[in-house]
Amino acid sequence: MESTLQLEIVTPDKVVVSQTVDYVGVPGIEGEFGVLPHHIALLSALAIGDLYFRVDGKTEHVFVSGGFAEVSDNKLSILAESAERGEDIDTARANAARERAEARLAAKTAETDMLRAHLALQRAVERLHIASLV
Ligand code: ATP
Repeated sequence: MESTLQLEIVTPDKVVVSQTVDYVGVPGIEGEFGVLPHHIALLSALAIGDLYFRVDGKTEHVFVSGGFAEVSDNKLSILAESAERGEDIDTARANAARERAEARLAAKTAETDMLRAHLALQRAVERLHIASLV
């Protein structure tokens, strides 16, 4: 029996990961869950967070935001609104996004979409965290 799992992470504009792996930690909307080879079929919404996978004893980190994880036939498919490998995160851009979101949340004008600003802040903070791990 195969002891690896196929991981595919795609966004509307790119394939971010397509490889066999040993284990994946997925940030699900109800908390992190782990996927090993031969996991039962599953469908879950994704949170904003760190998706990590292990291959040959090494751990890699990928930022994911929005979308779904589906497990079927020994394949984990992640369809995300946005995703980047840790090493591809532009920290200057994430810092700028964090500052913009913090300024919006502090200003709290009638036009401020607070939920949108909170989500932008969460994406920026998580990107900076993941970039610091790689
Ligand atoms: P920004 O305000 O900087 O666009 P955002 O959180 O609104 O940040 P997203 O909507 O999550 O951005 O992503 C839009 C696109 O830009 C996606 O393709 C995403 O992969 C890419 N992207 C966003 N921020 C970064 C970053 N810091 N480093 C690398 N790619 C990024």
